[in-house]
Amino acid sequence: MKKLYVVGLGPGDEQNMTGRALAALEESEVIVGYTAYVDLIRARYPEKAFLATAMRGEVERCRMALEAACGGRTVAVVSSGDAGVYGMAGLVYELAQGYDPIDIEVVPGVTAACSGAALLGAPLIHDFAVISLSDLLTPWELIERRLDAAGRADFCICLYNPASRRRADYLRRACDILLRSRAPETVAGLVRNAGRAGESARVLTLGELREAQADMFTTVFIGNSQTKKLSGGMVTPRGYRDA
Ligand code: SAH
Repeated sequence: MKKLYVVGLGPGDEQNMTGRALAALEESEVIVGYTAYVDLIRARYPEKAFLATAMRGEVERCRMALEAACGGRTVAVVSSGDAGVYGMAGLVYELAQGYDPIDIEVVPGVTAACSGAALLGAPLIHDFAVISLSDLLTPWELIERRLDAAGRADFCICLYNPASRRRADYLRRACDILLRSRAPETVAGLVRNAGRAGESARVLTLGELREAQADMFTTVFIGNSQTKKLSGGMVTPRGYRDA
C-alpha cells in the first residue's frame, strides 16, 4: 500500500528528534513541509526530493504530499514539534479521503510545550491547558472564553502562537484576561527558539509578561497558583495536598 508519514520534527535540532522520526525521513523519497521546517533538515538529506510551500499553504502542501504518495513514492509530511499539535496531521487525514487508499503513519515529536518546559524547569508538572492565540482558524471570542475558563480552573497554561506582527497586542490581551483570576505575581515563563539558534528561556511574573515582547517563535507559560521560582527555574509542585 502507498505510504505517507506525518512526522513531528521536535523543536529544531537533530538531538531532539525521535529515532522513529529519523527512520521515517530516511525511508522517505519525498519530504514535504513549510519552507522554514524543510530548511532545518534539507542539508541532512541531499539525495531526497523536497517540496516546500509558504506559511499558509497547508492545503496545497497536503495535496502535493498525497499526490506524490499516490504516484507510488514514500512521502513524509513534516511539522515542527508534534504534527498533531497545531500541525498537519488532521488535515492529512481529512484530505486523504479524496485519494486512493494510503497507509498514513503519524510519528510523534517533542512539542514546544515539552521542549520549552524542559528549558524552564518543570512548569507543567500538574494539569495544564494549551491554548493558541492565533485567530486565523479560531474566533478570538472563543480564545478569550478558553483563556478565562483555564484561568479560573487554576490550570497551568501554555500559549502557542502568542503574537505575530499582525497580532502584536494579543499576549497583553491574554494576560489581562488571566489577571481576572490570577495574581500579577504568578510565575510565568517565556521560551524563544527552543532547540534552535538564539534559544532563550526567561522566568518572570504574569504582571511582567503583560509588558513583554513575544513573537511567532515564542512559547509562553503561565503557572498555576502554586507555581514557584526555584533555583532560577519555573516549577509547579506535583500536587496541591502539601501546598
Ligand atoms: N506543531 C508545533 C506547533 C506549531 S504552532 C509543536 O508541536 O510544537 C507554532 C507555535 O509553536 C509557535 O508560534 C510557538 O508558540 C511554538 N513553537 C514551535 N516551535 C518552537 C520553538 N522551537 N521554540 C519556541 N516555541 C516554538
